[in-house]
Amino acid sequence: MISGILASPGLAFGRALLLQTETILIKKKKITPINIECEIEKLSQAKIKSIQQLKNIQKQSKKIFSKKESDIFEGHIMILEDIELEKEIITLIKKKYRTAEFAIEYSISKQVEKIKKIKNIYMQNRAIDVRDIGNRWLRNLLNLKTINLKNITEQVILIAHDLTPSQTAQMNFKYIQGFITNLGGETAHTSIMARSLEIPAIVGTGNITEKVINGDFIILDSINNKILINPDKKTINSFKIQKQKYLNKKKKLKKFISLPAITIDKRKIEISANVSNMQDILNAKKYGAESIGLYRTEFLFMERTELPSEKEQFHEYKKAAVMMKNRPVIIRTMDIGGDKEIPYMNFQKEENPFLGWRAIRVSLDRKDILGTQLRAILQASHFGKLRILFPMVISIEEIQELKEEISQAKYILNKKKIPFDQNIKIGIMIETPASAIIANHLIQEVDFFSIGTNDLTQYTLAVDRRNDLISHLYNPMSPSILKLIYKVINASHQAGKWTGMCGEFAGNEKATILLLGMGLNEFSMNASFIPKIKKIIRKTTFKKAQELSNMVLKQTTTKNIMTLISNFIL
Ligand code: PEP
Ligand code: MG
Repeated sequence: MISGILASPGLAFGRALLLQTETILIKKKKITPINIECEIEKLSQAKIKSIQQLKNIQKQSKKIFSKKESDIFEGHIMILEDIELEKEIITLIKKKYRTAEFAIEYSISKQVEKIKKIKNIYMQNRAIDVRDIGNRWLRNLLNLKTINLKNITEQVILIAHDLTPSQTAQMNFKYIQGFITNLGGETAHTSIMARSLEIPAIVGTGNITEKVINGDFIILDSINNKILINPDKKTINSFKIQKQKYLNKKKKLKKFISLPAITIDKRKIEISANVSNMQDILNAKKYGAESIGLYRTEFLFMERTELPSEKEQFHEYKKAAVMMKNRPVIIRTMDIGGDKEIPYMNFQKEENPFLGWRAIRVSLDRKDILGTQLRAILQASHFGKLRILFPMVISIEEIQELKEEISQAKYILNKKKIPFDQNIKIGIMIETPASAIIANHLIQEVDFFSIGTNDLTQYTLAVDRRNDLISHLYNPMSPSILKLIYKVINASHQAGKWTGMCGEFAGNEKATILLLGMGLNEFSMNASFIPKIKKIIRKTTFKKAQELSNMVLKQTTTKNIMTLISNFIL
């Protein structure tokens, strides 16, 4: 069985269509001075043709994608129109007597290598874009046929080394059931497009193209991260039934999108989404999120080559505030470190990065960065209902220091007479045992808690959340984690405040009734889980949920907890 990175959830099956990576052969021959003008003319004609093709693709993609995805092609056109790039290519033709194709290949490869040196996912994806543009230019110059994904007329699972955004935009999704690639990451444009079209996709498999040949029967399960090649008839049939069930369930769940999460006995729960960018916010709204429970701002810092300015951050946070139309947006300050590095910040190699320079530890050491971010959030708070959330807090002292920084940011803005929400609510994430244990003290300092079960589980159980070898030990259904969660919720309620949860556990349907019974006020999750969780909440009573949580909290083993939950009848 093969797996990879889940780019877009869903179930699909079909015959494999292997997209061969074309190699464009460039001869190293030189030209004579008489041919210079002719080469420059060829170069310019191919450029015009490429721009026209990209404009057509952009027009076509506007019909199916949001503005953000179609704008990718605007960026491609801009690269083609880059005067500096063209100058460099023409110089190679004129001064070094190179052919136009050699000059394009040389200059594009140089740019790609330069971008690739910046080791971050965003720039790696930009390198793919530049390569894509170079290949288009070359194909047009050499009159090579472009692979046309529009012309596929049978149902297939597309298998490729990598897919470019322009290839994805041209796919005929009536026939392409899903795709699997060797390369790619969750934030690659191709993955973003697959998610917005809800086409199942697994990327980053490493070597799928070596394991599959054209016509193989493929099962693509991007919910459980499974790829099966030529499975037996029994497996295919049971997968077909599974897929039908999944589709029926998805269809039925649609009606819950617009309904509030309210129990039969009228306890109202806030259902929110976790987001990292504007596309996620659109998705959150599409799936019925009432608010944003976690805006992971670190991606704003990662997908670039230098720190984002106050103005840039302000625009991003303001967009989020305006898009949610006065519904709460909880902005978490940069949670960098651990497995999330910023290449331009020169992180030192650490023995235990998850126990090291991470989250507010970085922010409190780099108050220039924190101050900029806080001022940006505060200014944006004037345009909606923003809240500030601090990650990885372990002590009262830290909160006091962070609040000091907020006061300082407010002071600066007041002095400049810039309007902002003077009473902006401040919360902390509870994601370490340290903060859970003293939650009753910490709540005196803040307005709300948001429980980060992803980290709370790894730190409490001492189980690295990414380590395959011990993944069986990583379970938030452990009595120790559940007791901590309950303790945190109670501490906030006793102080007349509220607790939300933004770890993955909040979107786990097995945990919904239990968390509801424990008194959790807000559930924040991946947007696509929202309808399912709303449905569960609407079909239960708070009283029944409390009965379950009382029983569960008395248990001493995970096994007993799981049995109680699966046997629980509403
Ligand atoms: C968490 O730890 O549960 C959380 C939501 O934060 P992250 O996954 O970004 O570490
Ligand atoms: Mg965390």
